[in-house]
Amino acid sequence: MASDQTHLTLLLLFTLISPILSHSIIQQFTKPLLHFTSANTLYCDSWRFSVETNDAGSWSTIPEKCIDYVKDYMTGDRYTSDSEVVADDSLEYAKTVELTGKDAWVFDVDETLLSNLPYYADNGFGSQIYDEESFNNWVEMSEAPSLPASLRLYNELEEMGITVFLLTGRDEYQRNVTEKNLLQAGFSNWKKLFLRGTSDKGKAASVYKSEKRMELVDEGYVIHGCSGDQWSDLSGYAVATRSFKLPNPMYYIA
Ligand SMILES: [Mg+2]
Repeated sequence: MASDQTHLTLLLLFTLISPILSHSIIQQFTKPLLHFTSANTLYCDSWRFSVETNDAGSWSTIPEKCIDYVKDYMTGDRYTSDSEVVADDSLEYAKTVELTGKDAWVFDVDETLLSNLPYYADNGFGSQIYDEESFNNWVEMSEAPSLPASLRLYNELEEMGITVFLLTGRDEYQRNVTEKNLLQAGFSNWKKLFLRGTSDKGKAASVYKSEKRMELVDEGYVIHGCSGDQWSDLSGYAVATRSFKLPNPMYYIA
């Protein structure tokens, strides 16, 4: 009888204190989290999600309050890690492709094969309005390093017998400096490098790039994959069977 009473007392006590206990446990776990994830970081994380998914649509500069966030993202491990995962996904898919003998993979150049991070680090990580003249001066230097994950993917695709095409929004007059930069960064043996010619001036990137992909389709190529840091590299028509979007929270090209 006494034992039953003890059990009843304990049960009553537990019922009374359990909500307090669970509340304090939740507080214990959420407080440090809130401490480490500031409201600003939380916002910029959500903002980055919206630009990578293209939910944000067209935008010209990154939010002022996200400059440090974008800097940390681009210069830290996260950008490298995200790019590596995209390359891994691309390779996983490429291994499943049945080769036809006319197998193509289309790569964009800037922020896909070559990284212009040294330029953007000197120009506010996308917080300043795009300045064509200063960017073209940087391009003339042919000093952009490779994106290591994309170089790995590029080399493995070539080993698999897939023909690589490069399709960039850079102008035809920049062909020599672009080729020089690509070679110095470790890329070689591309089948063709498409640049904007006189007839491509003024076209939206997605239209210009679709037209060039269509030329490959007309030549009988099957475009198995396409890699780019902009949605305009991947959308439109004559799109690849699979498109792979690389991260780029610094700028947007329609
Ligand atoms: Mg690009």
